[in-house]
Amino acid sequence: MEIGNFRLEQLSEGIFEVSSAGSIRKVMDHHEKETQKETLTRVGLDPVLIDTGSTRVLLDAGLGIGLDRSEPDPDTSNIVTNLDIFGYRPEDIDVVILSHLHYDHAAGLSFTAGTGDVTATLPNARIYVQKREWDSAIQSLATPPDAHGMGYEPDDLYRLMADGRFVLLDDELKEIVPGITVIRTGGHTPGHQVTRIRQNNRTAYFCGDLIPNEVYLNRFAVGKIDTDQVKARKARMLLMQQAWRDKATLLFYHSVYRKAGMIVRDKNRGFVLKKG
Ligand SMILES: [Zn+2]
Repeated sequence: MEIGNFRLEQLSEGIFEVSSAGSIRKVMDHHEKETQKETLTRVGLDPVLIDTGSTRVLLDAGLGIGLDRSEPDPDTSNIVTNLDIFGYRPEDIDVVILSHLHYDHAAGLSFTAGTGDVTATLPNARIYVQKREWDSAIQSLATPPDAHGMGYEPDDLYRLMADGRFVLLDDELKEIVPGITVIRTGGHTPGHQVTRIRQNNRTAYFCGDLIPNEVYLNRFAVGKIDTDQVKARKARMLLMQQAWRDKATLLFYHSVYRKAGMIVRDKNRGFVLKKG
């Protein structure tokens, strides 16, 4: 996909299942499925790579399954194998922007090597996240696990923080690279942010978990895993209105079916993806 002169790729890690408690795992085989009774929702997992011509930017980093192994997992992919498909190496990535710090968005940033050391997956990248997101991830460690549901697993991120890789943002709106701007929305998590990509009059939004898939374009959609549902709903509506005015393409992180599309209004003035 192209936005102006920027090249964009969605890097699919596979299809996963989310339990009602919010944990995420590989799609299980048929036999296992019959023996467990939980309601499972299927989700995709699609970080976005942007090549501006001079800078390579990654939006969210995926789960990182198999980063610690030399044998690739046949059912899933990770950031390194996906970059390789498009001809990039891990050291080519200059900037990572994280929508938030839940592990399905951040875990791919590091892996534990055989020696037990935490290793940065992308050795040259600076990682941009909201300061209040970092603070709430750290605070969640002090709360019992069942109180925060879908999770933060910040232990490995400490290592990256100690190495000075994180840039903590305290801005509602901040241009990170010319044409690539973060917008803090909160809602899903206290420091959730979306990314606007704008070049030569073309605009796209990477929606993170504020609009994880097409279903959330429905104005009545409620994100069960949003920490502040009212705030999330309001921010979602504002984002859809702005994206519609911008004639923007939306990029979804968790879609199983349509992973991107231009936002338009239907005859009931609701927001939908343009057909085709
Ligand atoms: Zn997520």
